[in-house]
Amino acid sequence: MAGNWKMNPATEQDAMDLSESLTKLLGDETCPIDDENPLCTEVVVFPPHPFISKVKEVVEDAGITIGAQSIYFEDKGAYTGSVSASMVKSLGCEYILCGHSERRQTFGDDDQAINRKVLKVLDSGMKPILCIGESKAEYDLNIKNEVCAMQLSKDLANVTKEQMKEVVIAYEPVWAIGTGLVCAAGDANETHAFLRTVLARMYDDDVAQETRIQYGGSVTPDSVDELMAMPEIDGCLVGGASLDADKFGRIINFKT
Ligand code: PEP
Repeated sequence: MAGNWKMNPATEQDAMDLSESLTKLLGDETCPIDDENPLCTEVVVFPPHPFISKVKEVVEDAGITIGAQSIYFEDKGAYTGSVSASMVKSLGCEYILCGHSERRQTFGDDDQAINRKVLKVLDSGMKPILCIGESKAEYDLNIKNEVCAMQLSKDLANVTKEQMKEVVIAYEPVWAIGTGLVCAAGDANETHAFLRTVLARMYDDDVAQETRIQYGGSVTPDSVDELMAMPEIDGCLVGGASLDADKFGRIINFKT
């Protein structure tokens, strides 16, 4: 379960308050998934860059992992306003969002740039959460699958089968992000199943089955249980509801 805080909250103190509420609420119920904890829910939060270190200090007590919302693909240099993979790694980030629709739309990240970011994150020893999904117009034209398949093939270019173990995919229909219009669980499940057929074509059946695919788009405590009951949905990427500790806590403790 991932919480994308986007450009919120407003101040470092607000970020600390949210982190503390979440940590108190979760106690030690979260932990990293590994061979000893195969059934744990892995939780990662993505605060704005300036708050990463302080938030990490607080949330790691609850076993929550920290991630960064974006990086630039170059290592260093004259890229005013950007941060590199090594910078956020040195702060303890383990996951990086790549290709979020807000980055695609507002900041002009195209598939080539997203692919370079995915490769940089992997080369730096971190894990990309690659966000893909169709716009409302593409949904209406009934080309959702074609759009998602194209994004997968371009954004994962030159990512090896071995590297795919570190990649998480987030299917986020753009029309569902921040709109309150959650995709019907059955429809999201069908799209996830389709994405696995694309991964099977690009790699093989093992990669298709083992890659974690999250759903994202207006997930709330009201919709999470039905979504997580779907066999092809492995987790959720949550925006708005992750800014409320009670809501995010309930999402993490989904019931199927
Ligand atoms: C997101 O930011 O990835 C997202 C899914 O936002 P929201 O949950 O607010 O729709």
